Amino acid sequence: MTRIIHISKLWFRGGYYAITLFGVVFTCEELSPTEINHERIHAAQQRELLYIPFYIWYVLEWFLLLLKYHNWTKAYFHIRFEQEAYRHQEDIGYLKRRKHYKYH
Ligand SMILES: [Zn+2]
Repeated sequence: MTRIIHISKLWFRGGYYAITLFGVVFTCEELSPTEINHERIHAAQQRELLYIPFYIWYVLEWFLLLLKYHNWTKAYFHIRFEQEAYRHQEDIGYLKRRKHYKYH
């Protein structure tokens, strides 16, 4: 089960309210089952990429998409890890069927 730790809202900017780091979810508010599932999908992505490569890939892809779209939010929503998480976040059983390394 994914560990959830509540922290101050001061740690977050913009509309962000949760982040998953090394399989642990840090959030400043109560998360809905859908939001928890979203973060658990990120935890699975991070685990299968052995964490550090995930963060490098995530930031690099965000940067390249920012060059393409010139918009932080649009770039964020196009990161492959976010696309998978948003697409399947409402499917609570998704993680049981999820195939490794398929980020869509
Ligand atoms: Zn996400």
